[in-house]
Amino acid sequence: MKKIDYGNYKKPSDFMSFEQGDTQIRIISNGLLGYQHGMNTARGFVNLGICPEDETCEHCKKGYEPKLIWKWIVFDHTDSRVKLLDAGPMIGNQIAEKLGGKHGDPKEYDIVINRKGLKLETEYLCAKAKGDKEIPEKDQESFEFKKKRLINKYFKKRAN
Ligand SMILES: [Zn+2]
Repeated sequence: MKKIDYGNYKKPSDFMSFEQGDTQIRIISNGLLGYQHGMNTARGFVNLGICPEDETCEHCKKGYEPKLIWKWIVFDHTDSRVKLLDAGPMIGNQIAEKLGGKHGDPKEYDIVINRKGLKLETEYLCAKAKGDKEIPEKDQESFEFKKKRLINKYFKKRAN
């Protein structure tokens, strides 16, 4: 349980999202690259699950193209929560290629993601943070438990 901070309240989500301007995060898992199915509907994007990339995929059989997706589990310094970062090519490539290629494993340093614009005009710029924010020991101790919870909830659906 966590005390509700009324001045800084945002509906909690398992998924990382970015406000306008800078958001500082720390990646706390390995990165995964894969394919995911989804659909744009009137009520927004619906996630149809990870593509197994073989002939058992019901969505591929119907002719739906999966999209490339980059996944990390991150610690959001803004609200001190552990979340899933489902990234498209814009953020995914920057973290993997620009940051990972230049600075090494992004688990070792904070990343600042700058969001500019809305909807289709949205641009994200990812950079190594000038300084790492401290992660309280209490939060670090719960990382493994929270990571497992997210993995069981979002990655193991097809296996059940
Ligand atoms: Zn598929």
